[in-house]
Amino acid sequence: MAERVAGPEIERLLQLLARLPGLGPRSARRAALHLIRKREELLGPLAEAMRIAHERILTCSTCGNIDTVDPCSICRDARRDPGILLIVETVSDLWALERAGLLAARYHVLGGVLSPLDGVGPNDLNIASLIERVRENPVREAILAVNATVDGQTTAHYIADLLAPLGVKTTRLAHGVPVGGELDYLDEGTLAAALERRTAF
Ligand SMILES: [Zn+2]
Repeated sequence: MAERVAGPEIERLLQLLARLPGLGPRSARRAALHLIRKREELLGPLAEAMRIAHERILTCSTCGNIDTVDPCSICRDARRDPGILLIVETVSDLWALERAGLLAARYHVLGGVLSPLDGVGPNDLNIASLIERVRENPVREAILAVNATVDGQTTAHYIADLLAPLGVKTTRLAHGVPVGGELDYLDEGTLAAALERRTAF
């Protein structure tokens, strides 16, 4: 067993940091040391921000986004076109599209994609709430902004079939999204091209 370099409190900080995506034990140690060195400017404010986030973060009951208010700031934003709905897999994809700032639309976060191999079926995703939402508040266009993976495309077709009887025009992202590509990793230009050249199902 590796020798401990610090007391249990610091050891706990290291272990928790090492659980963050992209941080292994080595980078967790570096991050911890950096935080400890910047105790006043960084560690304190970060701890406070995390405490507040832990207390106040909610999932939007309309779209599935995360925010500190429900409905979320995007759903409340009256300047957005209520006639266009961007359907995304994850909050991370929603953020990617928002960062690109391409379309002042509203969103619906599915919470994943259909994946028979992983045992993910329609009931595991926010699909029923999407259909319900579109029934109550009809939209002109639903853009299936899902990843260009096999599961992503299967999910897009499944949803397009459900939306068709409701008279919604469904489109999907076009060229620019590499096969197997994840939206979150695309640069804004590529994302813009994909959205611009979206195609009908
Ligand atoms: Zn929302």
